[in-house]
Amino acid sequence: MKRKLLQNTGKTMLALGLVAMLLVSITGCSKKNTNTTAEPSAVPTESASSNNEGASYTAGTYTATVTGMHEMTVTVTLSETKILDIQIEHKETPGVGEPATLSIPAEIIETQGLGVDLVSGATLSSNAVIEGVTACLKQAGVSEDGINKLLAIAKITEKAEDQLLTADVIVIGAGGAGMAAAVTANQAGKSVIVIEKSSKMGGNTILSGGALNAVDEGSETAIANKDSVENHYNQTFDGGDQAGDPVLVHTLVDNAWSGVEWLMSLGMKFNEKVFTVTGGMWPRAHKPVEPEGTGFFITYKNYIDTHTGITMVYNTTAKELIVEDNVVTGITCIGETGNIVTAKATNGIVLATGGFGRNVEMRVKYNEITKKWPTLDESIPSTNTSGITGDGIIMAEAIGANLVQMENIQLLPLGDPKTGSLSGNIEHAVESRIFINLEGNRFVNEGGRRDEMTLALFEQTEAKMFIVMDSDTYPEGTELNNFGESIADLVASGRALKADSLEELATLMKVPVDSLITSVKDYNRYCQGGDQEGQTDSFGRALFTDTDGVNNGINDAPYYATVRVPTVHHTMGGIQINEHAQVIDTNSNIIAGLFAAGEVTGGIHGTNRLGGNALADTVTFGRIAGTSASEFVK
Ligand code: ADP
Repeated sequence: MKRKLLQNTGKTMLALGLVAMLLVSITGCSKKNTNTTAEPSAVPTESASSNNEGASYTAGTYTATVTGMHEMTVTVTLSETKILDIQIEHKETPGVGEPATLSIPAEIIETQGLGVDLVSGATLSSNAVIEGVTACLKQAGVSEDGINKLLAIAKITEKAEDQLLTADVIVIGAGGAGMAAAVTANQAGKSVIVIEKSSKMGGNTILSGGALNAVDEGSETAIANKDSVENHYNQTFDGGDQAGDPVLVHTLVDNAWSGVEWLMSLGMKFNEKVFTVTGGMWPRAHKPVEPEGTGFFITYKNYIDTHTGITMVYNTTAKELIVEDNVVTGITCIGETGNIVTAKATNGIVLATGGFGRNVEMRVKYNEITKKWPTLDESIPSTNTSGITGDGIIMAEAIGANLVQMENIQLLPLGDPKTGSLSGNIEHAVESRIFINLEGNRFVNEGGRRDEMTLALFEQTEAKMFIVMDSDTYPEGTELNNFGESIADLVASGRALKADSLEELATLMKVPVDSLITSVKDYNRYCQGGDQEGQTDSFGRALFTDTDGVNNGINDAPYYATVRVPTVHHTMGGIQINEHAQVIDTNSNIIAGLFAAGEVTGGIHGTNRLGGNALADTVTFGRIAGTSASEFVK
């Protein structure tokens, strides 16, 4: 595996350090009680000897190219009776798709079967590996029937003993908020157990673009951008139609920068310059040096590895809060093997299970309240990882927690048409790109609110659009987007279009040439000469010049475009909390012992969350919840 990776492209080479760290660390390593349904070599041999169809192999090395989140090459070496080796060349993201490229080949070799469990949160990558191995086996003469037999071979898991775990603080969910809470509680001297449903740390947070809004009040950057904490407050509050709880919004914006400082004190690195993330409304987003949200988890994991007292329990799903004498004292979970795992806290419990973007039933139910979105059924994809199903919200409601603003569901206009993911997006910042519909026209202020942009997109033909930009922020073509993807790769894999003229681009996009040219010309008028105070175009767009002042419109070939669709991104509603992250019940009383942070909570972002505020939320309220849970005494 290493040998292969080292032969890989520069990007993968660069990612290698990350990969090593993340794989040894972020991925869970809880013990499995397993055996297999068949002796490793029995099935191929049996099939071979019985009818020479099915799983007999023509020995050799076979290669197939498949697509996970990115293109990957799968190379399988076979003897006549055994799968000997599987090598994967890939660019899957460390800590996201990457784990699937390691664990699935290992399990296939161990079981000599294809009935492996998909890695949670890495479905596309998992399926791609299986697809690649299947293609290689077919090349080696395995029939459809033989493949089906191999698909039926899976690990049998023996149920482990039920377990009782205890710690000072129990955190449910190893995403951004949960890990911030866990590290903070540990810094306060507490032992911590983190219960995580999936096999890895990261949740939705690791899939995000990584942008974190925070104002370093009075700093050169803030002054240069005419920004202040008050501006951040006003934009957050107004951006959510003033529906957010002012106390919680203040808590968020007042503490966001100290959250960045805290992360930096733990070793996390950010780019020097701030930028405007889509829907962020202002250049105040801090971008981690590492791709997507991986930097947060490298940092948290590094903390765990260098300190004692935080135990990660993976593949374990929290099901029910334990309440004794009106105090939340623990949680009952289903463990990896179906056993019961009970976790009890000496101090507090932190719920950090994220939102409900992947719970179609819940999003349809709550969208009914306002009918803001034309539909949120399964036809609308999501940026979220599969485990984001509202579990914490359901568990808290069951013990009387108040749920607030559940109808406030955020969509982005930036989803990959196949996966709903934000990957494959070609933009670097709001200022340098426009949205073009299938008629070749702009249709909305691309620097505006996320909900307004997405509602406008729903009204376009096929609810589809192109992001169009020039090469200002892609002088070489090798520059990476937020997801560590280069435009050159995206073009090569057909996920982005590239042309030397706007005419050619329009042809590739299959939109009317004249419309595209007129749209671009109109937009360029506002870019040239940079921002003028108060100047907006006919869509109300005010953001034209990037923070370097280098964007002077879409006029530098080559030109780029990529298709995007609406995608469910964030659920703003959830469990009501106060500024100490204490959970509030339906009678407005505090539920003793229970704290919540991150997307599982509601009432901070109002009707519409600003881009870049979710990560600020996870860090700010995660830290507060960690502190409050540590200080809680029964
Ligand atoms: P936030 O941004 O609020 O921190 P994330 O989406 O990053 O939320 O993380 C939420 C985490 O909680 C995910 O890793 C998810 O797998 C985990 N999770 C969700 N439901 C459960 C559950 N019932 N038990 C344990 N972990 C859960």
